[in-house]
Amino acid sequence: MSNRRIESTCGNNEQNTTIIHAMNSAKHALEGVDEENRPEEYKAVLAKISTFIERHCEHHIVRDYIDVSVEKTIMIEYCTKCLKTYT
Ligand SMILES: [Zn+2]
Repeated sequence: MSNRRIESTCGNNEQNTTIIHAMNSAKHALEGVDEENRPEEYKAVLAKISTFIERHCEHHIVRDYIDVSVEKTIMIEYCTKCLKTYT
């Protein structure tokens, strides 16, 4: 008897989430520098990270409701991994 199991896509998703989260924190850290103070190479790295996220994120989209005022609530949809919004 073997306990070996075929790797599920779930495991891959977890890894994807870890990678996208790491890329996302790197992106946010880099965005902490004012745009006019970013050297060319720095911008290139930032662009590369954005492209990576775009290309590799297996979006996990959730719906959220935000109260903008007492009588108005807006609905937004966003990816929990790369935080991209869809509305
Ligand atoms: Zn995403």
